[in-house]
Amino acid sequence: MPNLFYGYKDLEPVMSENQLMVHHQKHHQAYVNGCNALTEKMDKARKENTDTDFRATSKEFSFQIGGHVLHSLFWNNLSPVGKGGEIAGKLEEKIVEDFGSIERFKKEFNAVALSVEGSGWAVLVFEKVSQRLMIMQIEKHNVNIFPASEIIMVLDMFEHAYYVDYKNDKAKYVEEFWKIVNWEEVEKRFKI
Ligand code: MN
Repeated sequence: MPNLFYGYKDLEPVMSENQLMVHHQKHHQAYVNGCNALTEKMDKARKENTDTDFRATSKEFSFQIGGHVLHSLFWNNLSPVGKGGEIAGKLEEKIVEDFGSIERFKKEFNAVALSVEGSGWAVLVFEKVSQRLMIMQIEKHNVNIFPASEIIMVLDMFEHAYYVDYKNDKAKYVEEFWKIVNWEEVEKRFKI
C-alpha cells in the first residue's frame, strides 16, 4: 500500500477524513489483498501442478491490479485545497491545442465522469498513436483502457469514492474535485 503524502484530514472540506480513510484503508487495501490472494492461488496451483480457472483468474487479477494502480495514481493526483498549483506549461498548451480551451476540457471531463455507468473512472490520458490528450472512461478498473496510453489524471467514480460526503450528488463531487487536483503531479506525468 502506498502511503498518502498528506494527512487524512488534509483534503477537507472537499473530501472528509472519514471518506478518505474508508476509501484508502478499506477499499484500496481490499484490491491489494485481492492481488496477493490471487498471486498465492496461482503459485499454489503451479507448485502442485493443478489446474485453476485461468479465464476467471486472469479476469479477476486484471480487476484487482487495475484497482491498485488506479487508486495509487488517484491519491497522488490529489492535494490539499490551494496546494496543487494551476494548469500551466506544456500541459496547458496541449490541453488548449487538443480541447480548444481549459473550460472546454473541464466540461468534457465532467461529462465523461458523470456518464460513467455503474462503477468506473474518468481518466485523462496521452494517447500515443494520435499524440493527443484524450479522456477515457474506464469501466470498473479494467475495461475500456486504451493500450499503452500514458495515464495523466484519474477521478474515481465508484460510489465508494464520494458517498460518505456527497451521497447521490455525483455532480457536486465532480465539481469539487477540481479544487483538489494536484496539477504539479499531473504535469509531471505528462511528458512529451
Ligand atoms: Mn475507489
